[in-house]
Amino acid sequence: MKAQELICIVCPIGCHMSVEKKGEDYTVTGNGCPRGIAYTKKELTAPSRTLTTTVKISHSNFRRLPVKTSSEVPKERLFDVMEEINTLTVEAPIKMGDIILKDVLGLGVDIVSSKNMPRV
Ligand code: SF4
Repeated sequence: MKAQELICIVCPIGCHMSVEKKGEDYTVTGNGCPRGIAYTKKELTAPSRTLTTTVKISHSNFRRLPVKTSSEVPKERLFDVMEEINTLTVEAPIKMGDIILKDVLGLGVDIVSSKNMPRV
């Protein structure tokens, strides 16, 4: 198998890594630490991401509330989760960490507020 190039997104250094599959295992070079190897294996077998976005909010000085997923979502479901989030409108007051939507799409992941939003 031809070597695949990947950029590690685990920390801001962003190591450029080369990955080659050998049998059932992967040979990784260019990683600055072991987390790069773990990231590579996960990225090639079950890629996932923490989603950060915003939700419509009423009775607030702002029109959008920053939110994020409580844990990572399978990469292939990110657009489905975004569609679900886009149907929501929440009402202030909201506290940072409040659950905006529980168990989105049955993925076992909640959508939580990233900011306090007082009511006006
Ligand atoms: S391999 Fe390690 S040092 Fe390099 S970007 Fe990933 S986490 Fe950071």
